[in-house]
Amino acid sequence: MPVDTHVDRVTRRLGWIDRRTSVEDAGARIQPFVPPRLMLAVHVYLVWHGRRTCKAGRPLCSECVIRRGCRFYRQAVDAAERFV
Ligand code: SF4
Repeated sequence: MPVDTHVDRVTRRLGWIDRRTSVEDAGARIQPFVPPRLMLAVHVYLVWHGRRTCKAGRPLCSECVIRRGCRFYRQAVDAAERFV
């Protein structure tokens, strides 16, 4: 899986790779999550998703169709519930 800035950011937020994983190692860490026949399609989706929804500065989580599988989103919801 080629890893550009969008793929790197989105997959870290999703929880597919952790903070300590280098960009160089990220592609190999992502591969087990993606069937080989879908690799190109998932790569293109992650880039598109990173540009449109999972933006660097302010991700649009309330509009995100994959938020239920996202670690970043779950942590944000958990943090918000602690203040209720
Ligand atoms: S829920 Fe938010 S952080 Fe997670 S992938 Fe979607 S936009 Fe990105």
